[in-house]
Amino acid sequence: MFTRVQAAALTGVQVASVWVEADVSDGLPTFSMVGYLSSEVREAQDRVRTALRNLGIAMPPKKITINLAPTDIRKEGARYDLPIAAAILAAGNYIPENSLKETMILGELGLDGQVRHITGVLPSVIHAKESGCRICIVPMDNLREASVVKEMLVVGVAHLEQMIEFFRSGEIPDRKEEISEKAEDEKLDFSDICGQEAVKRAAMIAVSGFHNLLLIGPPGSGKSMLARRIPTLLPELTEEECMEISKIYSVAGLLPEDSGLIHNRPFRAPHHTATPQALAGGGKIPKPGEITLAHKGILFLDELPEFSKRSLEILRQPLEEHKICISRSNATYEFPAHFLLTAAMNPCPCGFYPDMNRCACSATEVIHYRNRISQPLLDRMDVCVEAPAVSYLELKGQKNSSLSSKEIRNTVKRVQNIQRQRYSKLPISFNSELSSKYVETYCVLDRDAGKVMQKAFEKLQLSARGYHRLLKVARTIADMEEETLIRQRHIQEAICYRSLDKKYWK
Ligand SMILES: [Zn+2]
Repeated sequence: MFTRVQAAALTGVQVASVWVEADVSDGLPTFSMVGYLSSEVREAQDRVRTALRNLGIAMPPKKITINLAPTDIRKEGARYDLPIAAAILAAGNYIPENSLKETMILGELGLDGQVRHITGVLPSVIHAKESGCRICIVPMDNLREASVVKEMLVVGVAHLEQMIEFFRSGEIPDRKEEISEKAEDEKLDFSDICGQEAVKRAAMIAVSGFHNLLLIGPPGSGKSMLARRIPTLLPELTEEECMEISKIYSVAGLLPEDSGLIHNRPFRAPHHTATPQALAGGGKIPKPGEITLAHKGILFLDELPEFSKRSLEILRQPLEEHKICISRSNATYEFPAHFLLTAAMNPCPCGFYPDMNRCACSATEVIHYRNRISQPLLDRMDVCVEAPAVSYLELKGQKNSSLSSKEIRNTVKRVQNIQRQRYSKLPISFNSELSSKYVETYCVLDRDAGKVMQKAFEKLQLSARGYHRLLKVARTIADMEEETLIRQRHIQEAICYRSLDKKYWK
C-alpha cells in the first residue's frame, strides 16, 4: 500500500515542499529510505521504529520503502520523523489513509514517542498555507508560532500518540499551560541619556536616512547606552516586517517562548570575539547569523577595532546589497541582511586620546589601533560623531530637556515618508540606498552649498564614494527641514560627520 504526506525543507529562510512517501508491500521484511538524505534523516528509521514499538505498534513484517521527494533537495535534520511515522501508520492502516490529505506534518521524535521542538516552523506553516494545505501538525512547543498563521487548523502534539488520536477521532490535544506573563521589559528611552546633544542629533539623522553610524569616544561616555536606545527611534514594525523578522528567528530557533512573533526592532550586539561564521551564519545548512538577525533593526559593533579583519570583511556584501550569500558544496543560501550598522570605538587603546593628561598610548599605538578599521569600511560609515565624556553639569541638569524616543520617532517617520514618496518609482526607500547613478538627480545643491562642497571635496580629499555618501547625508538633513534643495548649512553639517575620519585617521 502506498501513502504520502507533505512535509517541508528549509533552505536558508526559504521553504520547499517535500513529500514523504511510504510504500508497504509483500516481500522480505526490510526498511529502506531514499531521497538525497543526510545521516540524521536516515536515523529517523530507528527513532520511528522504536517510538512506534513503545506505543505497542509493531511495524508490519513487510518491505517498507520511504522516499522523500523531490530528490534534488538535500534533506537535513530530524524534522521528517513525524511525517515518516504518519506515512507508515497510514500505509499500515493504523490511521485512515485519507486523513493525510491537505496536511503538513513536521516534528522530531524521541524514542519514547515524545515530539520535540524544531526550528523554522513559522515559515513552513506559511508555506503550507500557500501550497494549499488545510491542516498542520507541529510539535506542541512550536504551537504558538504556528498559530500565528490564520485560516489553517494548526494542531500541536507533544506525543506521537496524540497525533494518532487526532487522525482517528479528530481530538485536538489541549494547549500546553500558558506561560505566565513575563515582567514588562525595561523600557529604554532616549531621554534616559544625559547631555550628548550632538550625538543624539547624529543618531536621529542616521536613523532618518538609514545611514551607518560610528560613535567615537572615551569609555563611559555612554556609547553603548545610546546605541541600545536607537531601535526605539525607528518606526514600529509593520505587520509584514513583523512576519519577515519572525520567520528568520523561527529558523534560528530564537522566537521568544511567550509570544509567537517578534514585535520589536531587532538589536543585535555580537561580542568582538564573534567569528565570521557567527556573524554571517554557519553550519552545513547555514542558520541565520548575527547580521541576518539584525535585519530591519540595529547591528551594534562595540569596540569596532577589536573585531578581526575577517569578521569585518563579512560586512561588505550586506552593507552594499542588504543580503548575504553563503556558499556550500550543494547550494548557495541567501539571507536578508538590511540593518543599520552602528559601531562604537575608543579613540585609542586606552580610550582617552586626545586628552594627553590621561592618554598613555604612543603615537604608533594609536595609529595601529585605528588602522585596524579598513578604509572601505570607514567610507561606509556615513555619520561619524564624537561622544565626549559627559560633564558634571550635563549629568546634573539636562535630563528633562531631552527629547523622548517618541518625539524623535515622529520626526524620523516624517522624514522617512518624504523619502518613500520621493523614491516611489525606485526600488529603494532611504537616501542611504541611492545608487551613484541617481545621487546627482536627487541631491541637488543650491549655489552656496555647491561652493562649500567644492572646497570640502579638495580639503577632505574625498573619494567618489565618500563624496556621494556626504551628499546623501546632506539630503537627509535637508529632508528634516523639508527643503527640496540642499542648502549650505545642510552640507556643512554633513561635512562635520565626515571630517572626523580625517581628524582621527590622518
Ligand atoms: Zn590612549
